[in-house]
Amino acid sequence: MNLNDKIYIAGHRGMVGSAIERQLRKKGFQNIVTRTSSALDLRNQAAVNEFFAAEQPAYVFLAAAKVGGIYANNTYRAEFLYDNLVMETNIIHAAYQNEVQKLLFLGSSCIYPKAAPQPLKEEYLLTAPLEPTNEPYAIAKIAGIKLCEAYRDQYGCNFISVMPTNLYGIGDNYHPQNSHVLPALIRRFHEAKERGDNEVVVWGTGTPKREFLYADDLADACLFLMEQYNDKSLVNIGTGEDLSIAELAQLVKEAVGFDGSIVFDATKPDGTLRKLLDVSKLHSMGWKHNIELKEGIAMAYADFLKKEIQVEK
Ligand code: GDP
Repeated sequence: MNLNDKIYIAGHRGMVGSAIERQLRKKGFQNIVTRTSSALDLRNQAAVNEFFAAEQPAYVFLAAAKVGGIYANNTYRAEFLYDNLVMETNIIHAAYQNEVQKLLFLGSSCIYPKAAPQPLKEEYLLTAPLEPTNEPYAIAKIAGIKLCEAYRDQYGCNFISVMPTNLYGIGDNYHPQNSHVLPALIRRFHEAKERGDNEVVVWGTGTPKREFLYADDLADACLFLMEQYNDKSLVNIGTGEDLSIAELAQLVKEAVGFDGSIVFDATKPDGTLRKLLDVSKLHSMGWKHNIELKEGIAMAYADFLKKEIQVEK
């Protein structure tokens, strides 16, 4: 990628897309094209075709997606499947038709089978059934991977797919029900502290384990792979380290400064018991994350507080 190449970030308002934009600008890339969802509805095929024909981007980061936590994935099953399938199909096909030099598709660690051995290696894709709570989202993401592979096989397109682990960071979604666990807990512990509550409820048993990567680290890995990696097979992006939800809750509690106790609501689903990525492929290429979880949670909490203040104003 040259500094003047035209780069389109699909989903630049989201946590991942905005981190990619920050990273690109930090490195001196200036020819960045973006559209808000109201200016360009990525589910509208004709509009997407028109946009690509007019802009002719050389590189595409496909970070647009409908995303959410375990509750949202399990509740809005039709939208998670339909919106994600349509957006990625429209963009990948338009990228092929307009001879985009390279496209990076962002998948998710939930594409791996529920009962796959841990840590999850790239080759476990499609070896067994998926976790039911996020099957629609995972099926859409698997279709995206297969689109990239098929356009590479049939037309020689340089489309690559990367699979990030659970992400958090600046601009995360803090919705009490629909968000992922880390932002949900930041909000819940913060509000409990503000109200002077003496306990906070954490969903599930606290025993599932998850791996977390700060969004700016993911963005750094995406730029690294956009520049270095030209292969058909997937690449996992994570830290290679995980912790239990109970341990995570303790870390968030400390970062927020909440004094009360933590109780677990086992009537809420646990989801997959463990979801740790094998990141040896990425590490062997020479990339490693920068921001450790404790530091990242403190930065995410600071970002959350900034938004709270803006809302209050
Ligand atoms: P997942 O990784 O796809 O399962 O997505 P989540 O981030 O939504 O959930 C991860 C784990 O955290 C699951 O075991 C949840 O039950 C647990 N969890 C605990 N409290 C919460 C919460 O307040 N919100 C969410 N989304 N998950 C929670």
